Amino acid sequence: MLQLYMPLNFLGVLYREIKQSLIDLQKMFTLMEREREVDDAGGARPLRQLQAPPTVRFESVGFAYDPARPILRQLSFEIPAGKTVAVVGPSGSGKSTLARLLYRFYDVQQGRITIAGQDIRAVTQASVRQAIGIVPQDTVLFNDTVAYNIAYGRPGATQAEIESAARAARIHDFIAGTPAGYETMVGERGLKLSGGEKQRVAIARTLLKDPPVLIFDEATSALDSANERAIQAELQGVARNKTTLLIAHRLSTVVDAHEILVMEAGRIVERGTHAQLLAQQGRYARMWELQQSGAEESAAAQEMDAVH
Ligand code: ATP
Repeated sequence: MLQLYMPLNFLGVLYREIKQSLIDLQKMFTLMEREREVDDAGGARPLRQLQAPPTVRFESVGFAYDPARPILRQLSFEIPAGKTVAVVGPSGSGKSTLARLLYRFYDVQQGRITIAGQDIRAVTQASVRQAIGIVPQDTVLFNDTVAYNIAYGRPGATQAEIESAARAARIHDFIAGTPAGYETMVGERGLKLSGGEKQRVAIARTLLKDPPVLIFDEATSALDSANERAIQAELQGVARNKTTLLIAHRLSTVVDAHEILVMEAGRIVERGTHAQLLAQQGRYARMWELQQSGAEESAAAQEMDAVH
C-alpha cells in the first residue's frame, strides 16, 4: 500500500508544483505582454541622470487603447520638482491610464510626456522605469520571503536597510511578529497578507529603491479612520522630496497636494489646490461636502464615482 501511496503522493506534489509554475508563468506573460506595447527608439539613450527630483510634464497628451475610443484628450499638467499632483474622478475617467503612460506601459499618441525635459519616448524604457517607483493598488508579491519582496526594490540591500524601510512603511512590527520574521514566505504559497499589508510591503520596497519620481495608486478598499490616517502618514513619508503622481480615491489624502486634477471622461474638468477647488463650488466641492457631512469614507468614495 505504502509502495502505491508514495508515488501517488509524489505525483500530487508534482501536480501542485506544475500548476503553481503555470500560474507564475501566466503572470510573467501577462507582465511581458504589457511590456511589449512599446519599443525603444533606435539609438535611444538612458534618461540623463537625475541629481534631484525632476519636473514631470504631460503636454497635450492624447491616448486611446482602441483607436475607435479615445480615452485621454488634450491633457496638460505639470508636476513641479518634488511636488505632488493628485488626480481624482469617477471610475473609468482615465486616472490609472495617466500612471500607465508615465511608466511607459504604452506610448502616448498625441503630445508628449517629459521627465526633466526629456521626452520619455526618446529614452530607454528601462531608464524611465529605474527613475520611477510605483506603489500600485494591488501589489503582486513574489512567492518568496518578506525580506526578498522588500529587497526587490534594491537588490543587494542589507538586512539593516530592509528593516529600516519596513519600519518607515510601518510593516516592521507585523513582520517581526510572525514566527520566521523576515524569512517568512509570502505570496500564494506562503503567508497571505491583507491588501493594506501588501501595500505597505510595496511602500517599503519603494523606499528602498528611493526613486526620484513616484506613482502612488491608492487602494480603493474602504478603510477605518485609524488606517486612513496611517496610510496618509505613510504616503507623506514616501512622497517627501519626490515628484509624485497620486491617483486618489479618498479626498482626505489629496488636501495637501500642490495641485488636484478632477478628471471626467479623459478630460480635466477642474483643477487647483484644495482651497481653490472648494471656493469654485463645483464638482470637487460637492464631493468634499459629501465627505464632511459625516458620510463614511467608503460611501463618499462611491459618491465620488457617482457625481457627474
Ligand atoms: P478606476 O478609478 O476605476 O481605477 P480610472 O479612472 O483609473 O478608473 P482607467 O483605468 O484609466 O480609469 O480607464 C479609463 C478607460 O480606459 C476605461 O473606460 C477603461 O475601460 C479603459 N481601459 C483601461 N484599460 C484598458 C485596456 N487595457 N484596454 C482597453 N481599454 C482599457
